[in-house]
Amino acid sequence: MVEKFNEFEMAQKQFDQVAKLLNLDPQVAEVLRWPMREYSFRIPVRMDDGSIKVFQGFRVQHNDARGPNKGGIRFHPAETFDMVRALATWMTWKCAVADIPLGGGKGGIVVDPATLSVGEKERLCRGWVQKMWKNIGPRQDVPAPDVGTTPQMMGWMMDEYSKLVGQYTPGVFTGKPLGGGGSEGRTEATGYGVIYTVREAMKRLKIDPKKSVAAMQGFGNVTQYAAIGFIEMLGGTVACVSCWDRTDKCAYTYSKEGGIDPHFLMTITDQYGTIDRKAAEKAGYKVEDGEAWIGKEADVLMPGALSGAVNAETVKKISKRVKIVAEGANGPCTPEADEYFKKNNIFDIPDFLCNAGGVTCSYFESVQNDANFYWPKEEALQKLDQKMTVAFHKVLDMSIKQKAYMRDAAYMVAIDSVAKAMQLRGWV
Ligand code: NAD
Repeated sequence: MVEKFNEFEMAQKQFDQVAKLLNLDPQVAEVLRWPMREYSFRIPVRMDDGSIKVFQGFRVQHNDARGPNKGGIRFHPAETFDMVRALATWMTWKCAVADIPLGGGKGGIVVDPATLSVGEKERLCRGWVQKMWKNIGPRQDVPAPDVGTTPQMMGWMMDEYSKLVGQYTPGVFTGKPLGGGGSEGRTEATGYGVIYTVREAMKRLKIDPKKSVAAMQGFGNVTQYAAIGFIEMLGGTVACVSCWDRTDKCAYTYSKEGGIDPHFLMTITDQYGTIDRKAAEKAGYKVEDGEAWIGKEADVLMPGALSGAVNAETVKKISKRVKIVAEGANGPCTPEADEYFKKNNIFDIPDFLCNAGGVTCSYFESVQNDANFYWPKEEALQKLDQKMTVAFHKVLDMSIKQKAYMRDAAYMVAIDSVAKAMQLRGWV
């Protein structure tokens, strides 16, 4: 029988390995291996037909030594408690590596949001808050959108919380819509953040960005802005992007002689990141199978869609020209891919550093909510660049000092910082 993959066991394994490398006090390690608080609850919702349906909800607060917990709420039919635990743990490391004063949290509801009407979605969102409001808040735990949840949903949730506590509290949820307490720059933040780290990696490897080519997977929020950034900020060329075609039920890779134009492609892409194949073909784009992106002649590979996309099989297709892998998605490279990168001297920018731009801008949103003073987009993006650049160099310095692979170095920076905060607060 094939053993079921368990994300939380993997998160603990990764932690144990780095704890050993860091010679971490076993008592400190014992605290960090487990979430500090976990909530599991049921949410009854009145459906449109008058019946009541009960949904399973979760929230996990992994560690708040560095500040209030932070992390998304996922609406997914296959959501599990262990998945939420793992994601909450990874959020602790992501906030620490980005050096934002927040801890790690994650939440979810077992549901396929596509099966709900707008009214049912709103009642479910409000129901989640009715169960959790005493244990979240700007100084406790600040949720955000994630898989299956949207800025509009955050608006409803913030409204429900504000009603329950009796005062307008925009900082309790981030990822809210612009005009409803959201931050300028949040849409671009993750993709641009990826590019700030790629820019720094290129400086380190002495690669001329203007002569460089990138191949990217996906064409959702992350890849769209990573592609724009690669072309407009670095002066490079994007050879291809890819997407899941919701009509044909398969993935395609889109490329064009001289490079793709992300602005044009965005005009023919739906809200789920599916490019209109016929419109692309009409505009002269070449359409290949979904895996073609990984074999393109490129200096930079940016897996920006799926976890496990670069694995034991697909990694063999990588062109000899690839020097940098920038992990825009969460968990896109498997341990076998890591081994290949190490052997072939490919510089990997690990996910929780590379895609930390999103949570960093979410932190900016709560800062602006607290101050009740909102920044222009240029200011938000300039602060984001500063944060991402410092975070990248902290990890790079650690990797040089410890002769460690970038992923291990990022874990070392993060775990060290959380362990120190716990010690300073007298927890351990
Ligand atoms: P999204 O839903 O906006 O876009 C996903 C894209 O992936 C779409 O273009 C979709 O067509 C494509 N896709 C799906 N299956 C595919 C396949 N088999 N082959 C090729 N493309 C496929 O999602 P997003 O917000 O861009 O997030 C992408 C990844 O980045 C996820 O792993 C997410 O967890 C991670 N991430 C996102 C953010 C953020 O702020 N958006 C922050 C951190 C991490």
